[in-house]
Amino acid sequence: MRRLIFEAEHEIFRESARRFFQQEIAPHAEVWREQGCVDREAFLKAGVQGYLMMWAEEEYGGAGIADFRYEQILIEENLRYGEPGFYHQLHSRLVGPYIGALGTDEQKARLLPKCARGETILGIAMSEPGAGSDLAGIKTRAEDKGDRWLLNGSKTYISNGQIGDLFIVAARTVPGSRHGLGLFLVERAMVGFKRGRNLAKMGLKAQDTSELFFENVEVPKVNVLGDPAKGFGYLKQFLAEERLIISVGSLAYAQTAFDLTLDFIKERRAFGRPIGTFQNARFKMAELRAQLDATQTFVDQCVLEHNAARLTPEIAACAKLLATQLENQVMDECVQLHGGAGYMQEYRICRMFTDARITSIFAGCNEIMKEIIGRSLGLDERKLK
Ligand SMILES: Cc1cc2nc3c(=O)[nH]c(=O)nc-3n(C[C@H](O)[C@H](O)[C@H](O)COP(=O)(O)OP(=O)(O)OC[C@H]3O[C@@H](n4cnc5c(N)ncnc54)[C@H](O)[C@@H]3O)c2cc1C
Repeated sequence: MRRLIFEAEHEIFRESARRFFQQEIAPHAEVWREQGCVDREAFLKAGVQGYLMMWAEEEYGGAGIADFRYEQILIEENLRYGEPGFYHQLHSRLVGPYIGALGTDEQKARLLPKCARGETILGIAMSEPGAGSDLAGIKTRAEDKGDRWLLNGSKTYISNGQIGDLFIVAARTVPGSRHGLGLFLVERAMVGFKRGRNLAKMGLKAQDTSELFFENVEVPKVNVLGDPAKGFGYLKQFLAEERLIISVGSLAYAQTAFDLTLDFIKERRAFGRPIGTFQNARFKMAELRAQLDATQTFVDQCVLEHNAARLTPEIAACAKLLATQLENQVMDECVQLHGGAGYMQEYRICRMFTDARITSIFAGCNEIMKEIIGRSLGLDERKLK
């Protein structure tokens, strides 16, 4: 179905983005998957193109582009033609905006230009071994020592954990208060900051994910983001956009899987006919086509709502729930239609199946999405007694 949210200038941008991902990212993907992380070069090259931190004002190295559709195009083109382990969107759009929105002028001037050039790679560290879905359970703590904060604790499953240079770390600043968290900018070279091994994952092999350890890390006061007691609220504030980003990526990946499966079932023959002509295959693909079009239309509408600053946490939760459920369904059906080939690493669908499995778990698992949506309907045990 024709998508209605893009103008001519978006399409021109899409063409050049596509060339970039085809020429500069895809040829390295296999090596990156083997080594377990992308080369820093990927970020530097994206920086030269102006593809990182596009939202930042020009004085901070960005292009001052508030229109989320440009970011959407980068995410879509990378997933179709590049490599999903190149987490440019985490750097640019999931982490960078915390500095843009909460940072002081000094922090923005010091940090953002290097992020826009890809010289500094960003990550965000919320999750801990005992606190994933329940962020109020964070145990990493920061103590106010007058001119600095002293950070102790550990984080786990942190994306860009190996290649990252600057992490926003959520830590408890108000002992005894479930929501008393601060956000701290921890730099690669800070004494007492260590990273664990690159964790072996089911999929997303070119994306590095690690534990991070903080042992008496002295964080200067100039590296605190916003009010050090309001971190929990900040995290919640940015999660709606994070969920939209996941939805956009999930759908782009699902559309890609659909297209390559359609080609496959037209070519592959069994019982003297292309397997795509069996009624089962035709019906499966028809159902997926209809669901993909409907969900894409909804997510595109969410993008426009986001541009108009009207994307609510509930709508973002609906988008993430629908897009990631559908993505996983598409991957499963498409592996099935590939037969044994779908189980072989040399076929892209095999990799896509495992890459996609995470999307219903991270950025808030889908059960939490249902809680957010359900509570917005007034079905909240804290209020209905
Ligand atoms: C590849 C990868 C990259 C990641 N990147 C980052 C990152 O960059 N930064 C970061 O901070 N974190 C990151 N994470 C962590 C991720 O956000 C957490 O794994 C996720 O929030 C789930 O937390 P958990 O693993 O502790 O699962 P748990 O919280 O233990 O939940 C396990 C399961 O329990 C169920 N469940 C939990 N709560 C509820 C509920 N309220 N109602 C119903 N069911 C529930 C769900 O089925 C859920 O999947 C990453 C994880 C992975 C795997």
